[in-house]
Amino acid sequence: MNTEEIIALDKEYVMQTYGRQPLALKEGKGAVVWDVEGRPYIDCVAGIAVNNVGHAHPNVAEAISKQAHKLIHTSNIYYTEEQVRLAELLVKVSPHQKAFFCNSGAEANEGAIKLARKYTGKGEIIAMENSFHGRTITTITATGQHKYKKNFGPLTPGFKHVPFGDVEAVAEAITDETAAVLVEPIQGEGGIIIPPEGYLEELKKVCHENGVLLIFDEVQTGFGRTGEMFASQTFKVAPDITTLAKAIAGGFPMGAVLASEEVGNAFEPGDHAATFGGGPLACAAALASIQTILDEGLLAQSRSHGECFKTQLKDLFQEYGMVEDVRGKGMMLGMEMGMPCANMVDEMRHQGVLVNCTAGNVLRFVPPLVITTEQINEVTDSLDEVLRRIAD
Ligand SMILES: *Cc1c(COP(=O)(O)O)cnc(C)c1O
Repeated sequence: MNTEEIIALDKEYVMQTYGRQPLALKEGKGAVVWDVEGRPYIDCVAGIAVNNVGHAHPNVAEAISKQAHKLIHTSNIYYTEEQVRLAELLVKVSPHQKAFFCNSGAEANEGAIKLARKYTGKGEIIAMENSFHGRTITTITATGQHKYKKNFGPLTPGFKHVPFGDVEAVAEAITDETAAVLVEPIQGEGGIIIPPEGYLEELKKVCHENGVLLIFDEVQTGFGRTGEMFASQTFKVAPDITTLAKAIAGGFPMGAVLASEEVGNAFEPGDHAATFGGGPLACAAALASIQTILDEGLLAQSRSHGECFKTQLKDLFQEYGMVEDVRGKGMMLGMEMGMPCANMVDEMRHQGVLVNCTAGNVLRFVPPLVITTEQINEVTDSLDEVLRRIAD
């Protein structure tokens, strides 16, 4: 099928929940994807911060294929070696001691909220304005943006929102009923918003002084995206609970909740479950993907190539008045424009580069961590050309 035929069938049979790009993809390798007509694109979207080890990484492809021939699914009524090995590896690379497995970011946040309520015996969750935590009823409630909630009430009781970056506002919002504070270390969908210096550390202090749990939603920032395995390590602040998904299994769907020993032990048999959670296929993909990040030195590469990428974006910021800001950590970069950036996304696609626009006017660059410096140069050259054309 060609692009046009695929789009026609989508219109006819698929619920129209997405404002998709008019592009049908067929294949990928590293940081490049090809459409069904065979045109290549440098991919700075990476499945929205999912394909951190690159497309079709042979380690991940082989782990999935080998496991698929052995055992695809078991349910959590039984043990598998893949699941316990993955839990052990996640504990080794994170500030946590216990893992629970599920299938998506929203589901990981649901699990974290249940765990915090069970552990504390309290109901209230403080979340941030401009945040994003998923699309289930409870996670749109936690999300601090009206556009994701309208038409879908009644929402889940027990949530409050305060401005991101304001520790005082959190301190004032905490009551005797507060179970946890839920925060993205860097707001992703909200426009790549970096917290003020010392904010997360202060937040942890306020939480602990008040017996409130600190939950980091690292669904987008995890697995090398910000230059360390987790943003908690980039910012040197260990939360009580971390939620993960997106890049965890190299593109295979999976989510996880990580917690300290004490908090994790609050869940008892029967408290929480997921039929597919931590299935052997997803665990094999995650083991291969995380091991690849370690073996190929992708954390250091995320820092060094990310810095080179950011420097080039900053040069464009100096050159073009309509670029208002360039910010980010590692390979999680944003270029804020003084105008809506949907048009630029189309222009960049015509140049053979995939980027997306978040928060209306922020071009988000979250490429595979394996992107080469030559590919980064190609991306910024294309961006230069698109900006020059708009400026003329
Ligand atoms: C993408 C995202 C989610 C939701 O993940 P899904 O797998 O789509 O449910 C939650 N939190 C953050 C920070 C995200 O970026």
